[in-house]
Amino acid sequence: MSVLEKMSSAEAIALENKYGAHNYHPLPVVLNRGEGVYVWDVEGKKYYDFLSAYSAVNQGHCHPKIVRAMVEQAQTLTLTSRAFYNDKLGVYEEYITNYFGFDKVLPMNTGAEAVETALKLCRKWAYEKKGINENEAQIIVCDGNFHGRTTTIISFSNDENARKNFGPYTAGFIKIAYDDIDALESVITSSKNIAGFLVEPIQGEAGVYMPSEDYLAKAKALCKANNVLFIADEVQTGIARTGSLLAVCGNCSCENKCEKQATYVTPDILILGKAISGGAYPVSAVLANDDIMNVIKPGQHGSTFGGNPVAAAVAMAALDVVTDENLSQNARKLGKIFRAEIGKYIETSNIAKLVRGKGLLNAVVINDTEESDTAWNICMKLADNGLLAKPTHGNIIRFAPPLVMNEEQLLDCISIIIKTLKQFEK
Ligand SMILES: *Cc1c(COP(=O)(O)O)cnc(C)c1O
Repeated sequence: MSVLEKMSSAEAIALENKYGAHNYHPLPVVLNRGEGVYVWDVEGKKYYDFLSAYSAVNQGHCHPKIVRAMVEQAQTLTLTSRAFYNDKLGVYEEYITNYFGFDKVLPMNTGAEAVETALKLCRKWAYEKKGINENEAQIIVCDGNFHGRTTTIISFSNDENARKNFGPYTAGFIKIAYDDIDALESVITSSKNIAGFLVEPIQGEAGVYMPSEDYLAKAKALCKANNVLFIADEVQTGIARTGSLLAVCGNCSCENKCEKQATYVTPDILILGKAISGGAYPVSAVLANDDIMNVIKPGQHGSTFGGNPVAAAVAMAALDVVTDENLSQNARKLGKIFRAEIGKYIETSNIAKLVRGKGLLNAVVINDTEESDTAWNICMKLADNGLLAKPTHGNIIRFAPPLVMNEEQLLDCISIIIKTLKQFEK
């Protein structure tokens, strides 16, 4: 069909099925427009977006400030590669390092690339600064982790789907239970070859699992005592999603990081992606101080698109929005309402078992098995009722709307969610 004709949902889905690799199993809605907390399908039906592209669209769909920055830069200069300097990258590097409080940034494009960058940086630091013998460095990771899809990253995944038949796997990783400080202590002190500890402050893909209150602070202290780098993957939890700029910020009420807060943990390496661009463009970043970042010399790592002028302009606009519109505070306030209201419903529900989360990264656990398709069926019904969410497992639904939502919209959404869940009560 001609691209000028309007396409139905069925036609668009058929095209993807026929010509696209089947590496995803999307909900059968075909979207063609987004604005703020809303998206529309090709038939014109309006939905609340409760996934936000896995927390990339924290600033809301097509935020005018971000779009303007992107269009203006796209009309001026899009890509030089790092073979030459450009007039946006340095400005952005100063901006983002001040914003998060690190000496330096290494710009990449996707979350997985940023994780790879952090792993390489950690290994190089281990050989050149810590003095580990070549090829012997080990990095500790957690059960249930999600850090992306590269060959190395899936090497230390527990998800059989993500791993099986993609071997041989990259060596040099030790897996321990998440939120188990004793396990971390015993591994970290067992060998001189431990280079880093890679952790998600909240495990998003696994189903929004939050560690004990003091886990991250204790983990950081163990890392420090043993000269091991604490590497925080905040690709999903960062950029105001959990009610503070970073999830390692704890419950701080300041807009930027606040080291006075008892629960604040400074990562040695911070990994960001997703919402750093408000979902407008692939932008990711690895932040660290000079003693770590300076081990990378010219020619040792790179990316053709990493740090391009459009990415730089978009990321600055997107981070401006986070500050200007108080998205951390809003996420914190609305998250409390969400958990309180859903929690009240759960007291008398036989279909929803539990609500958990922080800020506007929440999950509802459904009263069925992990292998069931109940969560999927509920998401289909939610879509019918005008709200888009996606299961992370057979019995867990993640609820993560754009952080520009207001209280009235949230209350409307809560009533849609409760109404839908009630249709599944036994
Ligand atoms: C999404 C995600 C990634 C991977 O990001 P991509 O841009 O999809 O490569 C890595 N870590 C975490 C915690 C994520 O949620």
